[in-house]
Amino acid sequence: MSARTYHVHCAAEGCTSRIGKGQLFCKDHYFALPRALRDDLWAAWRRAMEVYRVNMTRDEQELRNRAYQDAFRACVEHLRSAPRTDAAAMSTVAIAATGEPVRFVEGRRL
Ligand SMILES: [Zn+2]
Repeated sequence: MSARTYHVHCAAEGCTSRIGKGQLFCKDHYFALPRALRDDLWAAWRRAMEVYRVNMTRDEQELRNRAYQDAFRACVEHLRSAPRTDAAAMSTVAIAATGEPVRFVEGRRL
């Protein structure tokens, strides 16, 4: 498992949902992750990606790749023990000017 691995299916154990290039988890599993784990994962991913752009020592490269793998594993471990959360359950509902309810997840309209 490295930062270069390209997943076709959600990385959560037992999940067969197809995902797009550059994604690790399906929407439901992604939103089942606590915010802190998601933030850790992407911070570690960005740092691991710099390995290919920035000159750095081999030790530093390995450190970053390992940090990313650890963050990724923490997410998979969490999902193994946590119930799958419907993305809609993570949303907040606002009322539009028309009186229609509008769902948002982390500032993005569903
Ligand atoms: Zn999934």
